[in-house]
Amino acid sequence: MPWRRKPARHLRYWTGPVDRNAGFKTVLVFCVGCQHHNARLRLADLPDWDWYDISAHLKCTACGKVGWVDTRVDWGEVIDFAKRVG
Ligand SMILES: [Zn+2]
Repeated sequence: MPWRRKPARHLRYWTGPVDRNAGFKTVLVFCVGCQHHNARLRLADLPDWDWYDISAHLKCTACGKVGWVDTRVDWGEVIDFAKRVG
């Protein structure tokens, strides 16, 4: 098991294994350290760890904080927001 840091209390990491077959190729990761930095990660590039461990190891390229991340499913990848429903 790789090095792990306990997340800050307000952070809720995803847990469990990465589902590489859920229809998503990327996830969005927001930095809660500097609030505005975010990045898209390719699922294929992630190590074979559970989300919890991956989250704890992510480092913000803007402010350098490690593990201060909020991971979201990249809905923009599967939904065309420019297209109206109905
Ligand atoms: Zn940051």
